[in-house]
Amino acid sequence: MNITVVGTGYVGLVSGVCYAELGNRVVCVDKDAHKIMQLERGEIPIYEPGLKELADANVRRGRLSYTSDLHEAMRLSELVIIAVGTPPLPSGEADMRYIESVAAEIGEALGHYQLIVIKSTVPVGTNEAVRGLIAARTRQPFEMASVPEFLREGSAVQDTLHPDRIVIGADSSRAAHTLQELHRPLTDQLIVTDIRSAEMIKYASNAFLATKISFINEIANICEKVGADVTEVAGGMGLDRRIGAAFLRAGIGYGGSCFPKDTKALIQIAGNVAYDFKLLKSVVEVNHMQRFGVIDKLLRALGHLQGRRVAIWGLAFKPETDDVRDAPAIEIIERLLELGATPVVHDPIAMPNFRRIAADPRIVWCEQPLDAVRGADALCLLTEWSQYLRQDLREVERAMARPILIDGRNAYSAEQLAGAHFAYYPVGRPAMN
Ligand code: NAD
Repeated sequence: MNITVVGTGYVGLVSGVCYAELGNRVVCVDKDAHKIMQLERGEIPIYEPGLKELADANVRRGRLSYTSDLHEAMRLSELVIIAVGTPPLPSGEADMRYIESVAAEIGEALGHYQLIVIKSTVPVGTNEAVRGLIAARTRQPFEMASVPEFLREGSAVQDTLHPDRIVIGADSSRAAHTLQELHRPLTDQLIVTDIRSAEMIKYASNAFLATKISFINEIANICEKVGADVTEVAGGMGLDRRIGAAFLRAGIGYGGSCFPKDTKALIQIAGNVAYDFKLLKSVVEVNHMQRFGVIDKLLRALGHLQGRRVAIWGLAFKPETDDVRDAPAIEIIERLLELGATPVVHDPIAMPNFRRIAADPRIVWCEQPLDAVRGADALCLLTEWSQYLRQDLREVERAMARPILIDGRNAYSAEQLAGAHFAYYPVGRPAMN
């Protein structure tokens, strides 16, 4: 199949590369000419394990190319996949300007029948709106379909090649058939539904996962007060197949480019039809408060933060990604600065992206984890990158001014801590001090 993918971000680039890997001819389009130049040079603008190898191989085989010219890309394609961003507006609603502008461009470029697929996460009804925008600019026949994306950053290639399910929202058997054929090599779990339900499945799935995280974080907060251990509690809960073990890890809350924006967007989608989604509003509020547990523990351990040197390990919203959008580290560091502390930060991959959004001159940036802890009054683990878990904690303790470890991800085991003499503050588990 000849496929045009519009938008070469985490979703578009990974999808494009994987569709090429399946044997399709894929042209990835982005309006960011710099990104296209990087891609043409063989550079991958995002950090995603396994992506470069797969992209290089498919470019070599002649199945994958990059351009900023949508007209040219669409000349031969049968399928156009829209994967541009839908970032949040201040109101929480999804900003549809990129989708709308792509729709207009597709309408101008359409020279023969094509199936237009929206992969971006979009409010219910967007496919219909996009259909209208395209139809206003062309007399060519075309159809719309929705194939929401469920990949996780950090394992995006694996998730795309081995998805739990593919959801196809289509209102014609021709469109449904084309998309079933395209995705059949990936999984047998192909669900065909109407377009609005497909759009809703994406939001409902993310909202549910966010709810699990906020739920276990609240249980963790209660565990801290009653002397229980949330890891034991989650383990005991997760063995119940009706509950499942996934997404029951207590910590500093979710971040990233999806859960925060998709939960807020769903609250707005509900609000627009006069439905007050109370449960999800609480999920968002709990998640926001959870990150400040790190600050509370620092205050408990140090009394005050004025003039304190606080080492931060991890800025990305989770390991194996350079994405810092809505990462809990942003607000934690802002709060540290407000309280007069000096954040001394390290992240193996995400520092350049973080610097772009948090360029405060009071932040000290370190190239090595051990440089960050040298002379520090406390260490906060905010992202559980494996290299932090491999550090010799006795060496870390020796380098620090005070051996205080706030483990925002419950990442360290008793064995790893043995031999060091940290005052240790995990989440929802008994502190050791
Ligand atoms: P992103 O910001 O990383 O990438 C979007 C890309 O689209 C950018 O490169 C931008 O230059 C390009 N773009 C914008 N307007 C364009 C236009 N008119 N023509 C061509 N290119 C254009 O976004 P992302 O993280 O890949 O997310 C894309 C969508 O997928 C969003 O709706 C998001 O909610 C959804 N999604 C993301 C993830 C994830 O983990 N990132 C997972 C599932 C779904």
